[in-house]
Amino acid sequence: MALAEILARIAQAEQTAGRKAGSVNLIAVSKVQPIDRVIAVLDAGHRRFGENYVQEAAAKWPDLRSRFSGVDLHMIGPLQTNKAKLALDLFDAIHTLDRESLAQKLAKLVQARGSCPQLFVQINTGAEPQKAGVLPEAADDFVASCRAMDLPLTGLMCIPPDGADSTPHFAQLGEIAARNGLAGLSMGMSGDFEAAIAAGATHIRVGSAIFGARSYPA
Ligand SMILES: *Cc1c(COP(=O)(O)O)cnc(C)c1O
Repeated sequence: MALAEILARIAQAEQTAGRKAGSVNLIAVSKVQPIDRVIAVLDAGHRRFGENYVQEAAAKWPDLRSRFSGVDLHMIGPLQTNKAKLALDLFDAIHTLDRESLAQKLAKLVQARGSCPQLFVQINTGAEPQKAGVLPEAADDFVASCRAMDLPLTGLMCIPPDGADSTPHFAQLGEIAARNGLAGLSMGMSGDFEAAIAAGATHIRVGSAIFGARSYPA
């Protein structure tokens, strides 16, 4: 299975970068994958997964959690404010905190529950108009504003522009995180996770390299 190969490549990249073995968290991105492929990866012992759609996760993971213990589920897709509550029921981490209104909503919900998932602020490092995320120049203020709401932040997340060299985007995310005292870096996908590990990624989000190509419903 491809999972074993990816784990070996992660271990190699950690070693090459002089990083501790096991310091990178692999999020297996299972969005729109056939359920038998997801179960095969669970059967192989992997427990950390990523999903992009609240509805899809809600249909899939409560059942899988009842069959496999220790699942760690990460939300990596855009999160609508009106789905925030459901997202808190489903996910152990949210990587797409990208605007003030969502931060306010999460702060209110988290206060009421007394627990908070890991939170990553999505930074639009490429300043792409069609892409979600806080612009780099607004990142420091946004982090401060989340902290003022008592929202604990784990780190930052980015999705570099399609077709561009990811390396400068990874470096920029690392700089923003460092000057804001944030340890978590969610960056790197199937095509560039080794470069992300070299740049300090703590969480990589790998889908097709583990599960095979996604086929979206027509
Ligand atoms: C789909 C997705 C991934 C995984 O992409 P692959 O190229 O299949 O590894 C990672 N991050 C985000 C935010 C995604 O939407």
